[in-house]
Amino acid sequence: MKNKYSILTGITPSGSGEIHIGNYFGAVVPFLELQKKADKVYFFIADLHALTTIQNKEQLQKNVENQVLSYLAAGLDPKKVVFYRQSDIGLHPELQCILNNVTPLGLIKRCHAYKDKLQKGFDEEKVNMGLFNYPILMAADILMYEADYVPVGDDQRQHIEIARDIAGYFNQAFGQTFKLPDIYNVKATARLIGTDGKRKMSKSLNNYISVFESEAKIKEQIMSCFTDPNRIRSTDPGKVEGNPIFIYHDLINENKEEVEDLKQRYKAGKVGDVEVKEKLLKALLKRFNGERARYQELQADPKEIVEILRDGAKKAREQAEKKMIEVREKIGITNKYSFCWQRDQRWRRRY
Ligand code: ATP
Ligand code: MG
Repeated sequence: MKNKYSILTGITPSGSGEIHIGNYFGAVVPFLELQKKADKVYFFIADLHALTTIQNKEQLQKNVENQVLSYLAAGLDPKKVVFYRQSDIGLHPELQCILNNVTPLGLIKRCHAYKDKLQKGFDEEKVNMGLFNYPILMAADILMYEADYVPVGDDQRQHIEIARDIAGYFNQAFGQTFKLPDIYNVKATARLIGTDGKRKMSKSLNNYISVFESEAKIKEQIMSCFTDPNRIRSTDPGKVEGNPIFIYHDLINENKEEVEDLKQRYKAGKVGDVEVKEKLLKALLKRFNGERARYQELQADPKEIVEILRDGAKKAREQAEKKMIEVREKIGITNKYSFCWQRDQRWRRRY
């Protein structure tokens, strides 16, 4: 691991973009730590990638909005992080179009995402080309920025390896151009259990506790949480280990004495579920008080978001333009007759 390094990471707004406490501790907190450690961080919303599954205008807009607001409210620092939307940098699809030509069909056919789809019985003839080509656009997203590391979990490793392969093919054909990114191993954090007490917390299973939704909604989510199924009355001794409500208390409630007291009383049959849940709600609102206020503030002022994303796109574009000048020249798109040759010369003088 280098001492000074740059990181590139993206999130696809294919889900609603809302954040639950599982996402917060499993994805947002590790990101905030990376933000502190890395020298340069590129973080983008992969909205073009989302089109492979979301083909509904309002839904895509909403997902992106939720994601932008959630990450900023949670502490993404736009001064430190180059924060941008993929679609604001039209050079990504341009690079993808070029990389298509050095990418063998067989390489993409071996991708998990595509193979999984077929295995689930999806008709190959109907797989959209956005999904099929996803790894090539992803390679473009990554290679453009010359990042040292791309943090990914095990399920995404293959895509980074493919980006490295594609970079290798290009370099072989046109000379050294792209840096091969390394995988930044994200320690697999334990999956937080859902409020059903059975499966991992996840939006699609609707077994989650939100971070940014209204107090009433969060209360509803907490109140419906599974606890100890063998405990009928509040005077029955209850089980604390593996009980989701106590797992959440341990995670969120900063008042450790209160948690200990609740646990003891629960085990002795001296506290009801309702009190334990009400205290969790209170602890959650306290724990995320600053973030929730910031969320409201940002939501009320779209201009601030526009500024942040414009600034991020400007910084991202500087790097992307620089890289594309090199790429266009290497492949021979640029020549003395090209209009862009003169523009590129101007760019070159600037950097
Ligand atoms: P969906 O149900 O739509 O898949 P999700 O709730 O599983 O949504 P994702 O958008 O798939 O959330 O995941 C976003 C990030 O949050 C990922 O990095 C994932 O690893 C992390 N994450 C999701 N669920 C949990 C969980 N229960 N515990 C810890 N981390 C989680
Ligand atoms: Mg998921």
